[in-house]
Amino acid sequence: MNKVRTRFAPSPTGYMHVGNLRTAIFEYLLAKHDGGSFILRIEDTDQTRKVDGAIDFIYNTLELCNIKIDEGPNNKGEYGPYTQSERLPLYKEYAEKLVEIGKAYYCFCSEERLENLRKEADEKKIAFLYDGHCKNLTKEEIEEKINNGEKYVIRQLMPKEGISVYNDLVYGEIKVENKLLEDQILLKSDGYPTYNFANVIDDHLMNITHVIRGNEYVMSTPKYNLLYEAFGWDKPTYIHVSMVLGEDGQKLSKRNGDASFMDLYNDGYLPEAVVNYLALLGWSPETNDEIFDMDTLIKIFDPKRISKSPSIFDIKKLNWINSHYIKNLDIDELLKITVPHLKEAYDLNNKTEEWIKELVSIYQNHISYGKEIVEVTDLFFQDTKELDEECKEFMTSEGIDNTIKVFAEEIESIEDWTIENINNAIMNTKDKSGAKGKMLYMPIRIKVSYQMHGPELPNTIHLLGKETVLNRLK
Ligand code: GLU
Repeated sequence: MNKVRTRFAPSPTGYMHVGNLRTAIFEYLLAKHDGGSFILRIEDTDQTRKVDGAIDFIYNTLELCNIKIDEGPNNKGEYGPYTQSERLPLYKEYAEKLVEIGKAYYCFCSEERLENLRKEADEKKIAFLYDGHCKNLTKEEIEEKINNGEKYVIRQLMPKEGISVYNDLVYGEIKVENKLLEDQILLKSDGYPTYNFANVIDDHLMNITHVIRGNEYVMSTPKYNLLYEAFGWDKPTYIHVSMVLGEDGQKLSKRNGDASFMDLYNDGYLPEAVVNYLALLGWSPETNDEIFDMDTLIKIFDPKRISKSPSIFDIKKLNWINSHYIKNLDIDELLKITVPHLKEAYDLNNKTEEWIKELVSIYQNHISYGKEIVEVTDLFFQDTKELDEECKEFMTSEGIDNTIKVFAEEIESIEDWTIENINNAIMNTKDKSGAKGKMLYMPIRIKVSYQMHGPELPNTIHLLGKETVLNRLK
């Protein structure tokens, strides 16, 4: 048996949606599970959508995610070029071959004629299908038109009877009546192929064994199969995957929290965590475990366990997984995902490196993503803050004023500003005021940090500094 070869085939739009990245992850896992190859193919046949630098962007994204490309535009490989716009002569050659064997035909219909057909279909409220007007042109007519410089496309000739059937690994048996299949365009008048043609030619020529892609292609796959059959080629295994939806059940878009990988990355999500999360989005392992590194995912990945139902992009679950990875970071990695955000939000000029390190460390177990450091540390950068109702209510409890007064005196008398001495100050306050437990810690915490929750109190106080703490207590 040949080794598995999968391909990730993004269009170079300078943007990687989490749904696309999930497809790449599934393709990578499937190939590597078998010791096979993962191929990157750039699908740039729609030149209007092309963005400068998009290929670098795709490479950067995959590299960050630790997805290693075996063959691709910037890698070596026997099946190149791996960018569709560099393969135009191939598509032309194969389209002409199809015409020769009677499975495709030249079409010279004008945009105007097609527009009228579309309007008619609209009025009759039926789906527009090209009417096959050009399929019976004679060889001479075709030659004459081409010699006259008339523009043409090449269309696939579909059977008009019967049913096409294929098996999808996720969706099972898919059946389509052939009369519903349009004589679709394979080669456009500018010489570019359509996706519908190029994907077949490339997947075959690149020896792709398994095609994983969005389920928007489930119903067009019978057309692709007819092309494979016309050429007498083996078909790949199809694995169509459901869409990734927003929490509102709608297609992810800017409005419902469209998640692009780079946005997540720039907000301080760790690529390993995003990969872990996305691998579990619409796929499940046999156990209930949820934390997996790449090597383990490769070992256990089984595409038969991909789910048919749409997957909801659940930021809370991603946060949970990401916070797990953040807890295991060493200090330098932690600084890397947090400090740029602190710098952007606050003036750190009079803070020492030590102070910043300490600040970030005490929040390591409290943040879900790097940028969250900004909101949780605001108490260090602003001197007043409106208390919430719960805090206000608590501060009316009896005896609190005394606890605060005693604690302020204890703080005042500290000479060496260490966490240990701060801890002693709290203990002395306990002895002198008689307050204990929540009645001891909470008033102090609320006074110095304006909130009821946070990291260790002595560490927080240490970072705030003696002067600030005294000001807030008074
Ligand atoms: N370029 C196609 C897309 O981005 C790829 C689909 C496929 O994987 O075949 O939707």
